[in-house]
Amino acid sequence: MSATHSQYDRALDVASKFSREWLTSVGSRHVGPTATAGDLVRVFGGPLPEGGLDPDEVITLLAEGAEPGLMASGSGRFYGWVMGGTLPAALAADWLVSTWDQNAGLRYATPAVAALEEAAGTWLLELLGLPAGADVGFVTGGTMANFTGLAAGRFHVLDHVGWDVRVAGLNGAPKIHVFVGEERHDTVDLSLQYLGLGRPIVVAADEQGRLKANELATALESVPEGEPIIVCLQAGNLHSGAFDPFEEAITVAHARGAWVHVDGAFGLWAAASPSLSYLTRGTAGADSWATDAHKTLNVPYDCGIAIVAHPRSMRSTFGVHASYLILDESGSGDPSEKVPELSRRARGVPVWAALRSLGRSGVAELVEGLVSNAKSLALGVKDVEGAEVLNDVDYTQVCISFGSDSRTREVTQRIIADGATWMSGSHWKDQDVLRISVSNWSTDDEDVRLSLEALSRAVAP
Ligand SMILES: *Cc1c(COP(=O)(O)O)cnc(C)c1O
Repeated sequence: MSATHSQYDRALDVASKFSREWLTSVGSRHVGPTATAGDLVRVFGGPLPEGGLDPDEVITLLAEGAEPGLMASGSGRFYGWVMGGTLPAALAADWLVSTWDQNAGLRYATPAVAALEEAAGTWLLELLGLPAGADVGFVTGGTMANFTGLAAGRFHVLDHVGWDVRVAGLNGAPKIHVFVGEERHDTVDLSLQYLGLGRPIVVAADEQGRLKANELATALESVPEGEPIIVCLQAGNLHSGAFDPFEEAITVAHARGAWVHVDGAFGLWAAASPSLSYLTRGTAGADSWATDAHKTLNVPYDCGIAIVAHPRSMRSTFGVHASYLILDESGSGDPSEKVPELSRRARGVPVWAALRSLGRSGVAELVEGLVSNAKSLALGVKDVEGAEVLNDVDYTQVCISFGSDSRTREVTQRIIADGATWMSGSHWKDQDVLRISVSNWSTDDEDVRLSLEALSRAVAP
């Protein structure tokens, strides 16, 4: 036993030492990786060693080898995609989750982590202004959160026309008409593909990428009365940060009996701030929502959240009890009844820790801080030679063009090579863009200043 314990001690001491070194340097190091995956396969790979190695030596090899291939996503100057950093309480809670090694599927088997997830779920509903009593499932990310909400919706709209998709499947099922905005996230299409629902019907969007509610109303008229419908809306456009017109769109969709799903991977968090909640007004009227804790809430990868207003449809879709329907639907249910897996990591625990460490006002300040930094960056970009901000910066996203696609790509490559900041290249409205996503809780004024300086270096001749 004592030999076992000292093995844990040594391995964890080494891991803790490397973790602390990383966290100390992450805010000032070259933001992008300096080695490729190909380089590192040569470091980590080769023939499978015949003999073993002490755990602490394994961790040293791993940490030292990985270092050049790590993205400093915890840096306040990292603005790639919408990845977010890691709050201290969330990171430390995640260590405990690994240490405890609980299978968080069943309440009676692992009550502590089930209770933490239940508490976190209740807090989330309150923070995001969603109906109390909705089911909350902790999944791997926004992709699976979209899948989960849409799977519950698929069950629900088919059940409504007397078709039990669990038993009868999709062969010969009534057709489900699925509508999406022109600028929905690709993972909505992917989820529909996983669900056997095929390609959706695309509704036009305005210049900021918001689905047009009047176009949705017109499109819905083509569906014969009584046929199943799912409508997908978006809170937070990846390029512009824009939000769909929820009140109008949900009203027209519900008038046709549709299930409405909202993909709010990073945008749903606007609801947690009194000064930003106007952006998500009306979202509470939807039937399901997807969001990410590993983005705006700054919980370590991975953690997405699927919320469904109709527990019966959620648990009928994911519950594993054959006799499920005689269970008490008003109870909290098992975590595994709200996610597409039976055995699972306790992903809600770091969420609980993040929320407990921030409190309601702390979450609001976090989101407001991201938006204020995005606005400062957008303002500063206006003084950068040849740069033009293409979107209305009301949230965390800034999309920049440098005149032509080739010039924008050149500046993108230069800024990434420079290493003082990281912004990603993308394509929006038929042109190449440089995109800033502010999603790290630690970004401060100095990070903004250094990033704008780096941008000026990148456009210099
Ligand atoms: C990031 C994102 C997703 C996908 O989330 P993952 O966590 O990467 O799976 C879906 N929708 C939107 C709007 C996103 O920003």
